[in-house]
Amino acid sequence: MLSIVIPVLNERESLAQLHAEICQTCQSHGIKFHIIFVDDGSTDGSWEEIRRLAESDDRVRGVRLRRNFGKAAALMAGLKAARGSLIMTMDADLQDDPAEIPNLLAKLEEGYDVVNGWKRRRLDPWHKVYPSKVFNWMVSRLTGLKLHDHNCGLKLFRAEVARELRIYGELHRFIPVLAHARGFRVTEIPVHHRPRQFGRSKYGVRRFVRGFLDLLTVVFLTGFGQRPSHMLGAVGLFFFLLGCAGLAYLAVYWVVKMSSGVDPHIGTRPLLAYSVAAALLGAQAISLGFLAELIVAYTGRESDAYSVAERVGRESDDN
Ligand code: UDP
Ligand code: MG
Repeated sequence: MLSIVIPVLNERESLAQLHAEICQTCQSHGIKFHIIFVDDGSTDGSWEEIRRLAESDDRVRGVRLRRNFGKAAALMAGLKAARGSLIMTMDADLQDDPAEIPNLLAKLEEGYDVVNGWKRRRLDPWHKVYPSKVFNWMVSRLTGLKLHDHNCGLKLFRAEVARELRIYGELHRFIPVLAHARGFRVTEIPVHHRPRQFGRSKYGVRRFVRGFLDLLTVVFLTGFGQRPSHMLGAVGLFFFLLGCAGLAYLAVYWVVKMSSGVDPHIGTRPLLAYSVAAALLGAQAISLGFLAELIVAYTGRESDAYSVAERVGRESDDN
């Protein structure tokens, strides 16, 4: 059973055609499916359209959020309603081609947990395509998961992946990275991409600044989420020791000069200011690390600490 989760923000004109294309592809390939449209605060009558589709086809479900909460939140709401063992996400704007569904399924069968789409010939304006190339390159470098199109709306994954994913804010751009960090097998296949026919894009240039900040968050969360003081503490120790070394040098210098009867004048030396600043910064970072450890120790969930692939033996019946 395949659950198709579709976040919708003001895409009324596209919905009926999208529904028809999905039904046609799935029926001709004998795929059992249901569709979950999540209306993320549309104001153009998308919800009425979703309601109409749900009334005419019992494979269609709708969830309406009270206001616009963002694509990540809409996806989470959709994943919660998904009942299938396989889950696909797809944009509502007809840019993702439902005809790719069987190809993604076939790739997953080869033994992957996540199959990410790759809009190889991307039909979007240049001011989106080029920054996005840089973004994908950076994400691949910094996270170690090499994909061409991390933020492709078209994705297929197993329900286990959905159960373990926690995306909020705009972290939907990092679903493959977050899954990879938990040990899931992630791959990609080129998919057909179409230009936007109706409505308009919901993301502007600001997305790149936000995407970059989110990249830092994700690198930190996946690398040090379970041991924050290893990062903050290491940075802190470095600066603290640097500051201490500067201060120790100044102290020795002062003693030596004083004992030979010369005024050492260390009070106006830049080294003094730098050393004090470094020692303070270092101490701050170290204590921030401890604070972060306290949060992980007392409020961290065990399920975040590891991900179970399989179980064998008797106990597996109870779990
Ligand atoms: N979307 C959403 N909530 C938002 C922004 C976007 O549900 O706050 C949906 C939108 O309706 C579409 C998908 O996310 O189905 C991708 O948005 P869009 O096509 O505008 O992004 P682009 O293709 O321009 O990157
Ligand atoms: Mg789009």
